Amino acid sequence: MLTEVHVPDDLSEAVRLVGGGAGVLSGGTSVMPRLNDHASPPTELVSLRRVGLAGVRVDGTTVRIGATTTLAQVEHDDRIAFLSPVVRSIASVPVRSLATVGGNLFARQPYGDLTVALVALDARASVADASGVREEAVDTLVGQHHGVVTEVLLEAPAPGTFRYLKATRRRFNSASIVTVAAVVEQHDGVVSAVRVALGGVGPQIVRAVAVETALVGRPLDEDAVAAAAQAGLGELAPADDAYASAWYRARVFPVHLRRALLGR
Ligand SMILES: Cc1cc2nc3c(=O)[nH]c(=O)nc-3n(C[C@H](O)[C@H](O)[C@H](O)COP(=O)(O)OP(=O)(O)OC[C@H]3O[C@@H](n4cnc5c(N)ncnc54)[C@H](O)[C@@H]3O)c2cc1C
Repeated sequence: MLTEVHVPDDLSEAVRLVGGGAGVLSGGTSVMPRLNDHASPPTELVSLRRVGLAGVRVDGTTVRIGATTTLAQVEHDDRIAFLSPVVRSIASVPVRSLATVGGNLFARQPYGDLTVALVALDARASVADASGVREEAVDTLVGQHHGVVTEVLLEAPAPGTFRYLKATRRRFNSASIVTVAAVVEQHDGVVSAVRVALGGVGPQIVRAVAVETALVGRPLDEDAVAAAAQAGLGELAPADDAYASAWYRARVFPVHLRRALLGR
């Protein structure tokens, strides 16, 4: 049950209220349905609408995305066009015009598709709380709830290195069956460095270390990717839900890893 929504004009007041136990309200696409279902105890919320965290800054290859930047703003920003296909795979146009980058960090699996991409991109997040502002890797932050995320920072991937594919039941408003995001660097015909993140296949986003290890030092071809998928199966803990069974998710994973990495 909602008891009060604070709408502070500055970040320090928002941080103070959150430190006192109030929850963060950003786009509300996830918080509000839960409150409306009466699924939470009495709750005070702090809206971030007026604290000035929206916007994208690009300085050379460094990208900073304010936490309250909407997914729609990300989708239409040509400077970060590599993220457009990611955002377009999320929800629907009306949801994307409300949902924010900061909120997606805390979306429960099998949602959080932008965050899957951010983990593959080795993004960091700035978090403000009573002790100050700290930077955390997105993959360690996900699932935790301390302070206010103020922005996400990442290095733009070199052209052609970023891969993203989401398997879903239908085009709009469909959660992930399997989401694959990867940054693949190649040198002299073999994979020299790779980061792979997966959504939809566990209670948290998976950083697929076994997949990465199996790929490094090999040419990026069907055999290498099939072996990497086999190695990665042990990292998955998929669940049954209304979108897919755990059995189906595990079978879709190798196919979508191949399609994401090889485009076929
Ligand atoms: C119909 C529908 C379909 C959807 N489909 C998809 C999908 O396909 N893929 C996908 O990834 N997601 C999907 N979502 C989920 C959606 O992406 C998330 O609800 C959204 O990203 C959350 O952002 P928000 O700004 O609305 O967060 P809110 O609902 O405001 O908050 C969500 C959580 O994040 C916390 N939070 C928000 N901002 C901050 C911050 N700056 N600092 C600290 N904590 C914060 C809140 O306290 C809360 O716990 C869907 C949602 C709906 C309603």
